[in-house]
Parts: sequence; structure tokens; C-alpha cells
Amino acid sequence: MADCPNCGTWNPDDKRVCWRCQTPLPKPQPEKRRNPAMLWGLPLWTWVILVLMTIIFFVTQCGLLQTMPR
Ligand SMILES: [Zn+2]
Repeated sequence: MADCPNCGTWNPDDKRVCWRCQTPLPKPQPEKRRNPAMLWGLPLWTWVILVLMTIIFFVTQCGLLQTMPR
């Protein structure tokens, strides 16, 4: 499925050189592993959990303060 970089001719996958102009074809690139969305060195889901934990923490703290006898 590689197009020749020189003449743009389609070449089969197993071809090492272009069948038309004999230009060496680039090797088919292995599919890059997609990195998960990162934010400041941590995956995004880690931040989601951290934010949720913080929200839950504050909500529970507020709830404790409201029920605390004065
Ligand atoms: Zn070519």
C-alpha cells in the first residue's frame, strides 16, 4: 500500500523498490501505539479520580460540619 516517494506510483506491500522508477520504498511504518491522554505526566483518568476524591472529601467535610453540634 506504499506509494512511491519519487513518482507516487502505488506499490504492493512486499515490494522493496518501486516497480516503475526503482526508487527504494520506505518500509511500512508499524502502527504507533496511541498514548493515553496525559496531563502533567499522569493519565487523564488519574486526574478525574483525584478531582472526584477531592469533591467527595469536601462534600463529606461540609456534611460533617453541618451535623456537628455547636
Ligand atoms: Zn516510483
